[in-house]
Amino acid sequence: MAAEMGLKNVITTRIDKLVNWARKNSLWPMPFGTACCALEFMATLASRYDMARFGAEAIRFTPRQCDLMLVAGRVAIKELPILKRIWDQMPEPKWCISMGACASSGGIFDTYTLAQGIDRFVPVDVYIPGCPPRPEAVIDAVMKIQKLIENDSWKNYKQELLERRRQEQLYKGTLFPWEPK
Ligand code: SF4
Repeated sequence: MAAEMGLKNVITTRIDKLVNWARKNSLWPMPFGTACCALEFMATLASRYDMARFGAEAIRFTPRQCDLMLVAGRVAIKELPILKRIWDQMPEPKWCISMGACASSGGIFDTYTLAQGIDRFVPVDVYIPGCPPRPEAVIDAVMKIQKLIENDSWKNYKQELLERRRQEQLYKGTLFPWEPK
């Protein structure tokens, strides 16, 4: 039919596939770098590893323009409200990478001053093991996020959002002792 109409090159797709394709190739990371892991993340952005190949080089330091939070380094209990506020200010849909042992589990710092894993406070999509992880591991995590986005659908997304809201209500007032109940 297309050939009869004189159109030789026709591509058909679904709107959510097209949106996901655009999203996965234009991630804007919001780095929450607090320690040595952040330096490895900087190396990932430099010319040797060149994150621009994955369309994720536009680092922004304003959460309202970002859709990928990357927590690199240990997070002190005092920093948690800031982390949570930045996460809440990022528009949906958004994704989170926990980079390194400290962000994922507190690492070697098993002390009362540090969060023993950020995943009780923000929903983590991909964890990067290591101390510090190599830039190749950061790129691998970004590719895993791209895979997640590629297979996402609006229906799943709505369910995820509802589940996230439900958990936020469930944990309200229990995560941060200073938060009003
Ligand atoms: S995981 Fe290792 S490199 Fe990363 S912040 Fe902790 S101590 Fe530093």
